[in-house]
Amino acid sequence: MIQLSVEHLTKSFDSNQVLNNLNFYVNEGEFVSILGPSGSGKSTIFNLVGGMLLPDDGSITLDGEKITGKRGSISYMPQTPSLMPWRSILQNVLLGQELMGRTDTETARKMLQKAGLGDYENAYPHELSGGMKQRAAFIRALLSPQPIILLDEPFSALDELTRHDMQKWLLDIWNEHKPTILFVTHNIEEAIYLSDRILVLSCKPAKVIQEYKVPFARPRMEEIFLHENFLSCKRSIHHALKNQ
Ligand code: ADP
Ligand code: MG
Repeated sequence: MIQLSVEHLTKSFDSNQVLNNLNFYVNEGEFVSILGPSGSGKSTIFNLVGGMLLPDDGSITLDGEKITGKRGSISYMPQTPSLMPWRSILQNVLLGQELMGRTDTETARKMLQKAGLGDYENAYPHELSGGMKQRAAFIRALLSPQPIILLDEPFSALDELTRHDMQKWLLDIWNEHKPTILFVTHNIEEAIYLSDRILVLSCKPAKVIQEYKVPFARPRMEEIFLHENFLSCKRSIHHALKNQ
């Protein structure tokens, strides 16, 4: 069932046209990645879907309801974790729920535990490493009551090893809760490893130049990185990006 639908989305900043008639959808429980070159308009798409920006034209529909320009309908994790420095980790991950008027401390504690942050629930963000902050921010997004989570290049600032650990952790937690995720990345391997479907964007003004259904079963094993299909998947996407 389609949960999020983006139709004819168009956006310029003065004379800079970033999106021109962009269309895509995300099904309930699906993990979809938006893959595109830097500056192609990925964060702009997120800001529009999250209601932080208004489009010049087009519409965004969530569960059949128009949410264009409406904030709060979607759980959003920006490029940098943005935890509040004056709140403990537990208070930070409960923030999304707090804004909606109900908190579930017990579930939050369990999730922190599972993320290796059990000993840090009363710590403050500055006491955590980059990867730990990302996990906390992600738990906050996951605990928020909205039906879909937007993640904007959440791992791009991490070193290679931490990044891979975080990808595994994300898959694990996704497997358990099956939230709908719209994930932005410019990393082809990351998109293949994580997603059900990949939308490959052109340079701006962004349009979907290729839609790729990832052929690997779940739960995803690390071995797929060495699989022949993985390489041909990667090659095809690389080709599409290069030849636009
Ligand atoms: P990406 O996330 O794919 O790297 P962005 O969506 O951040 O790309 O940016 C796409 C284009 O839109 C860039 O040319 C950028 O300068 C421009 N842009 C993004 N946000 C704004 C803004 N708030 N005001 C003016 N220009 C913006
Ligand atoms: Mg961006």
